[in-house]
Amino acid sequence: MPKSGCGSQGGDASKAERKRGFMKYRSFLIKYAEIGVKGKNRYLFEDALVKQINQRLKRIDGKFSVWKESGRIYAEAAEDFDFDEAVEVLQRIFGIVAICPMLQVEDRGYDDLKAQVVRYVREVYGDKPFTFKVVARRANKQYPVVSDQINRDAGEVVLDACPGAKVDVHDPEVILRIEVRQKINIFSETIPGPGGMPVGTAGKAMLLLSGGIDSPVAGYMTAKRGVIIEAVYFHAPPYTSERAKQKVVDLAKLVARYAGPIKLNIVNFTDIQLYIYDQCPHDELTIIMRRYMMRIAEIIAKQDDCLGLVTGESIGQVASQTMHSLAVTNEVCELPVIRPLIAFDKQDIVDISLKIGTYETSVLPYEDCCTIFVAKHPVTKPVLKRIKKSETKLEEKIDELVETAVSTREVMRCI
Ligand code: ATP
Ligand code: MG
Repeated sequence: MPKSGCGSQGGDASKAERKRGFMKYRSFLIKYAEIGVKGKNRYLFEDALVKQINQRLKRIDGKFSVWKESGRIYAEAAEDFDFDEAVEVLQRIFGIVAICPMLQVEDRGYDDLKAQVVRYVREVYGDKPFTFKVVARRANKQYPVVSDQINRDAGEVVLDACPGAKVDVHDPEVILRIEVRQKINIFSETIPGPGGMPVGTAGKAMLLLSGGIDSPVAGYMTAKRGVIIEAVYFHAPPYTSERAKQKVVDLAKLVARYAGPIKLNIVNFTDIQLYIYDQCPHDELTIIMRRYMMRIAEIIAKQDDCLGLVTGESIGQVASQTMHSLAVTNEVCELPVIRPLIAFDKQDIVDISLKIGTYETSVLPYEDCCTIFVAKHPVTKPVLKRIKKSETKLEEKIDELVETAVSTREVMRCI
C-alpha cells in the first residue's frame, strides 16, 4: 500500500490499511473480572456488559454479534471491519478487563486444528523471532485428544512452520492458548480493557457538568462504577457565549464515548444569577449560586429518577470548595452528592483528563457562568446561618425563577 500525504486520499489509504481486521481476526474473547464475583446477580452484570458491547459495536462497520457462553463473552464480526477501531471501542467499555483477539474455528478434526494453529501463528507473528509455550484447555471432554497431547503437537507444528519460534516453558514471550469447546478458540494476544463495572448496573446519577477540567473526569469515574450519567449545565447568556455552551456539549460527547449516551440538560441561569447579584452580599454570591445550582440539579435529577448528584469538587481547590463551603453547599441536597475527586490533587485530575481525552477541550478559554459574577474576595468559611439569612432576601421571586429555569431547559442527547 503506497503511503500518501495528507488529504482524503491519504485518509482512505490508511483506513484501507487498518481495515484488515477481518483477514486476521474475526472474533474477540472478552474477559471481565469484577463482575465475575457478584454471586447470584452475576448474570445481570454479564447481560449489562453484553448490551453495552452490542450497542457500541453497532456503531462501527462489521455487523458484530455479541453473546455470552459459559462465563465468557464473545464478539464476532460478520463482515470486514477496522480492527483498530473495534479495539478502541472495546477499550472504552467499562467492565472489560481484557480483550483477546482470537481465531475461532469449527471442530473439523485434529489435523485441521493443527493447520489452523499454524495459520494463526504465521498470520500474527510471521517470521518474527519469539519464544512461546502452548496452553491447551479441553472444556469439551468429548474431544479425542487430551490437553497435554495438544500442547506437544501444537508446539511441534509451530516450530516446524515458524523459523523464528522457540519453545520456552518457563518464561515465554507468547502464551498460545487453545481452548477446545464446541468450537475451538486460538488466541495469544491480550489487550487491556478499562476495568470497572458495566454502565447500567448501578442506577443513574446527575452530573453537574461545567466546561472545566474536573467535572468531565468526575463523570467518567462515576460511569466507571456502572452508573448511567445524565448531565446538567448552567449557562448565563449573554454573559456566557454559544461557544462556551458548545464546549460543554463537546465534553459531554467525549465522556459519552465511555459512559454511553448522555442526556444533557442546559439550564438558563442568567435571571437567577442577576437576582442573587442584586439581592445578596457579593462575597456570598458564589456559595449562594452553587446552592441554587444544586437545588435545580436535584429537581431535574428527581424528575429523571437519578439516585444522586455528581460534581467535580475537590477539597480546597477554590473558595467554594473549602470544607466549610462544601458543607454549606451540601445542606440543600437530599440526594447523596458523589464527589469522586474530593481528595485528588489537580495534577492527578489533569492526568486522567489527558488519558480520557477531555483535557484539550476543557482548557479552551471560554467564560464560565460562575466566574462572571464572582466577587474579589468570596467567603471561604461561609456560615450556614448567615447564608440562609441572605437567601431570605430572594424569597419574593426565586421560586418562580427556579421553576422557569427548570421548565425552559434545553435537552440534548450527547452520543
Ligand atoms: P470544573 O473544572 O469541573 O469546572 P472547577 O474547578 O472550575 O470545576 P467550580 O467552578 O467551583 O470548580 O465548580 C465545582 C463543580 O460545580 C464543578 O466540578 C461542577 O460539577 C459544578 N459546576 C460548576 N459550574 C457549573 C456549571 N456552569 N454548570 C454545571 N455545573 C457546574
Ligand atoms: Mg468550573
